[in-house]
Amino acid sequence: MTTFDINQYRITEEPFYQAQVNEVALYEAAYAARLPVMLKGPTGCGKSRFVEHMAWKLGKPLITVACNEDMTASDLVGRYLLDANGTRWIDGPLTLAARYGAICYLDEVVEARQDTTVVIHPLTDHRRNLPLDKKGELVTAHPDFQLVISYNPGYQSLMKDLKQSTKQRFAAMEFDYASADVEAGIVEKETGVDAGLAAQLVRIAVTARNLKGHGLDEGISTRLLVYAATLIKQGIPAADACRMALVRPITDDADIRDTLDHAIDAIF
Ligand code: ADP
Repeated sequence: MTTFDINQYRITEEPFYQAQVNEVALYEAAYAARLPVMLKGPTGCGKSRFVEHMAWKLGKPLITVACNEDMTASDLVGRYLLDANGTRWIDGPLTLAARYGAICYLDEVVEARQDTTVVIHPLTDHRRNLPLDKKGELVTAHPDFQLVISYNPGYQSLMKDLKQSTKQRFAAMEFDYASADVEAGIVEKETGVDAGLAAQLVRIAVTARNLKGHGLDEGISTRLLVYAATLIKQGIPAADACRMALVRPITDDADIRDTLDHAIDAIF
């Protein structure tokens, strides 16, 4: 039997995270009480980076699962596999985190079907355990285990949502794009572009975010600003980099595309 090494999930170098308000203190308090935490906010605004930073700061391993609609409870919990030596049980990421004391981060949990999501319930209340029905084992969560989920309330809410019985197991923290000067600082720090260029990129994002609900489902994320700055660092002219990284990914609508392209031309 191969032994599992949880240390591979430890984050050894500090992930840069620019705090916006008191989120570090709030999270530390929630972790100290092992409360499950929900991070809400638009895509690419820093939720995953925040969890990585906090796992590093608390010195805990972090197991991240990108959720999708085809995911089953077995993908989280584990399954029997057949190999040359017969069948053997393989723990899923949620079970590993519970058994060995990691922070388990279920990214975009709303993508998973509700019958998948309910497997987290016994881990998120006073029981803090995980029944492995197929294996006939009840895993008691390690004292360091904590469950964190991310959730983008914007675009899914019409089609998909979390059950109230799931939502009400979490303390929730709201994230959003940083204010313009803080966001420019993030782009500068992440990519090494100068402050002036970072501020120009943020101005384009602000224009696009004002179009949200008027033809755009989501604004330009901090992640895309980092991409644009990275392309510029590679030697791509700023306007081309912005079209490629900031506009083309977020819209297929010709009018919106032209509006944003003009905003770029006005800035560069
Ligand atoms: P989310 O999980 O909200 O979709 P991420 O955490 O992956 O978004 O953030 C996307 C990128 O944006 C990160 O890789 C990082 O470059 C940058 N970023 C956003 N917010 C911050 C922040 N507060 N501090 C540092 N980097 C940030």
